[in-house]
Amino acid sequence: MSQSLVTMSYIVATILFILSLSGLSNQETARRGNYYGMIGMTIAILATIFSGAVTSYGILIGALAIGGSIGLFAAKRVEMTQMPELVAIMHSLVGMAAVLVGYANFLDPSTGLTGVEKTIHEIEIYLGILIGAVTFSGSVIAFGKLSEKISGKPMLLPARHWLNLGLLIGAVVLGGMFLSQTENGGGLTPLVIMTVIALLFGIHMVMAIGGADMPVVVSMLNSYSGWAASATGFMLNNDLLIVTGALVGSSGAILSYIMCRAMNRHFLSVIAGGFGTASGGEAAVVEGEVQPIGAEETAQLLLSSKNIMIIPGYGMAVAQAQHTVNEITKFLRDKGKKVGFGIHPVAGRMPGHMNVLLAEAKVPYDIVYEMEEINEDWDEVDVSIVIGANDIVNPSALDDPNSPIAGMPVLECWKGDTTIVMKRSMASGYAGVGNPLFVKDNTRMLFGDAKKMLEEVLKALKG
Ligand code: NDP
Repeated sequence: MSQSLVTMSYIVATILFILSLSGLSNQETARRGNYYGMIGMTIAILATIFSGAVTSYGILIGALAIGGSIGLFAAKRVEMTQMPELVAIMHSLVGMAAVLVGYANFLDPSTGLTGVEKTIHEIEIYLGILIGAVTFSGSVIAFGKLSEKISGKPMLLPARHWLNLGLLIGAVVLGGMFLSQTENGGGLTPLVIMTVIALLFGIHMVMAIGGADMPVVVSMLNSYSGWAASATGFMLNNDLLIVTGALVGSSGAILSYIMCRAMNRHFLSVIAGGFGTASGGEAAVVEGEVQPIGAEETAQLLLSSKNIMIIPGYGMAVAQAQHTVNEITKFLRDKGKKVGFGIHPVAGRMPGHMNVLLAEAKVPYDIVYEMEEINEDWDEVDVSIVIGANDIVNPSALDDPNSPIAGMPVLECWKGDTTIVMKRSMASGYAGVGNPLFVKDNTRMLFGDAKKMLEEVLKALKG
């Protein structure tokens, strides 16, 4: 393949990636966005294979076959509810790739670079390994936390800010040592020590983050994985990888900003860890009487209401209740009721989690509202149904300054006439805090698996 054709293909792939990102920003165009991404990636892989940079097609085909089969197997086997963990572990692979490429580049004697070019290449290697190692270990811990193999509680070491500062200074000093030692053919020792430091930093950073702040970490690691890919692109001299990595890195950074704004957090406080847990006071214990309700009574309440708001949360994903929710929505709308969906930006376990599920069940886009679109209008709502959501409807975020989720905007459904909360028990949500909504006078608890209970409600509605 001629070099100009390779460059052309890279430009086309880049344009398709940009179109893909813009498509993914809206539910109606998301499917198209995915197609653009797939075509772009196919062009990118083919152009790289035939660019002349490949020295062994055997190794390449072997790697493609192994990587492709793992990807195919994971995508087929993984449940929708495990998607966030899968995304986290994928990020870790990008980080690991950057570390391995960095070491391979460092150990490769055939680059033949001298002077400034050599120094720049070494800085690329150092930064690539640094970002890659933080991304790798941070993503592995995020995987553990999201899959609940590691506790969601923040691990707060006594001098954690000093520890972080020490690790940062250590990385900078080692960088200087690395550059000076490479002049004499050395540099491996500071590189290895820095890698260990970066791995520890990634672990410490994510371990220190409280459950409710995890969305910011997920989007931040997404961003890091982009920068790690970009660094790999610099090391491999591959323009397309640099651009693609920068696209992922910057869109992840924008997403982190959006998540921080949605949760009313400062990015730096989240990264420093343990946000909201340092106030010293104890979060309020929830006391009061729970008022249970049955499926039959819920159906009656829905039939006598005009304006209904559905608030889905992580439990809807666990129960896979989205299709039944859609059937109930259709039934109620056919009866002339106004039905809407209120989506909190951090509902579920990954950005856009609820939107994906509702789109899968074919809920019409025009009745799905963002939190800020509806938070002023709760007094017009007759019944809101909270389906497997907890933290995102917790009033203590607004009125308990000691709560770990204090300051986070929530869907203020209790301001409507009646709230029905569907969940299996009184257990807390991901942030591990009690929820006073469950004992409010105008709240009714419909206990049970969300899908099973919704099927009963649908049956009662139809009956
Ligand atoms: P929560 O985790 O707060 O609550 C989910 C609730 O669903 C639980 O209390 C559980 O109660 C209930 N539930 C679980 N399974 C079922 C089932 N089969 N049927 C019925 N109910 C069920 O979820 P939210 O969506 O309200 O909030 C998201 C939380 O996750 C926030 O704290 C957010 O910060 C965090 N997070 C979000 C990420 C994102 O990117 N969106 C990423 C990482 C964390 P019970 O056991 O009693 O049934």
